[in-house]
Amino acid sequence: MKKKIEKIVNKDIETLLYLGDLDFYPDGKGGQLGDRGYINGNKFKTIYNDKIYLALNKTSQFHEGQEVEIEVDYDWEKEISVQHSAQHILSAAIFDELSGNTVGFQMGDDYSTIDIDIPSISKEMIELISNKTNRVIESNLPVNINEINIEDIDKYHLRKPVNKKVLENNEDIRIVSIGDYDHSACGGYHVGNTGEIGVLSIIKTEKVKGNLTRIYFLAGKRAIDFYMKLTNITNDLKKLLTCDEANLLKRVESLIEDNKIQRNKYKKILNEKIYKEVNALEDEIIFVEDDEEYIKAFNSAITSEKYLFIGKNDDTFYLSSRGYNCKKIVDLLRKEYDIKGGAGPFKGQVKSSVLDIDTFKKFINGNLEAISG
Ligand SMILES: [Zn+2]
Repeated sequence: MKKKIEKIVNKDIETLLYLGDLDFYPDGKGGQLGDRGYINGNKFKTIYNDKIYLALNKTSQFHEGQEVEIEVDYDWEKEISVQHSAQHILSAAIFDELSGNTVGFQMGDDYSTIDIDIPSISKEMIELISNKTNRVIESNLPVNINEINIEDIDKYHLRKPVNKKVLENNEDIRIVSIGDYDHSACGGYHVGNTGEIGVLSIIKTEKVKGNLTRIYFLAGKRAIDFYMKLTNITNDLKKLLTCDEANLLKRVESLIEDNKIQRNKYKKILNEKIYKEVNALEDEIIFVEDDEEYIKAFNSAITSEKYLFIGKNDDTFYLSSRGYNCKKIVDLLRKEYDIKGGAGPFKGQVKSSVLDIDTFKKFINGNLEAISG
């Protein structure tokens, strides 16, 4: 399809090419992703009724008034039709088996979701609808599209009533029939036979908007790619944990448990060590450079009447005090050094890439009077 560029608008991360009326499937219509393809050989990422979105680095060759060639990516169209048809069958299975209605549908580049009006869903329910959907897919039912007049609508047993707006406009209604299993009004892309979908896999569910369940699913190649990814992860885990998949969960659980025991032992030894060190302290001003856990444990072990504690980990300084004012320290520090963070009188935290512990020590010694109290 040849079109003329009417206007070019540059945004921060992309460029919009306005091309007048475009006869493609736009993004977001009916919850479906739009067409993908090429404009003068450059892949585009989003398409609407009158414009195409391009990545910034691909725009230098375009100018207003230029005639361009737009081609559709048919592999993408096929992919979309597989996801969309799978959604019809899944929604029908949920309606059939669980009396649940689909109230939302979103198709993404990686996965699709439907929202159903069932507040919670069990493993068994997922298995039931997943099996049912896959049985319909295997049956290789024909998918027929019929444009019908509103008066003939009662001839079809529609799963969902037709959108009010469509009825008001008195336009022809596009009915997608999957064998005799499901009839729905829909304008999107669909396969010719359900066998083309191959397989559907439900990968996740979550509660949304209070009383709905969101079901994440993959169909066709997406499901197979996901399965391969999982197989690779499982194989790596099996090697790493030296066990078969049946024992993976147990093995991880026992490692977590073991780790907990070791952590508690470590904490006990650490606290004993810190307790000794804190008791041996003679100076009021204490500098410690260590990891965050050690710094925090050390800080909380200090019981002196008057002290200033400064712990350093990477480029972060943790301050706490009694008888010294952390806020004053940070305010003064900010005048001389490039620091981020803040403090109250007793506690503070600053980040700085220019400040090292010796500089900090000199700074404190030079400002002892100003930071007291
Ligand atoms: Zn559809």
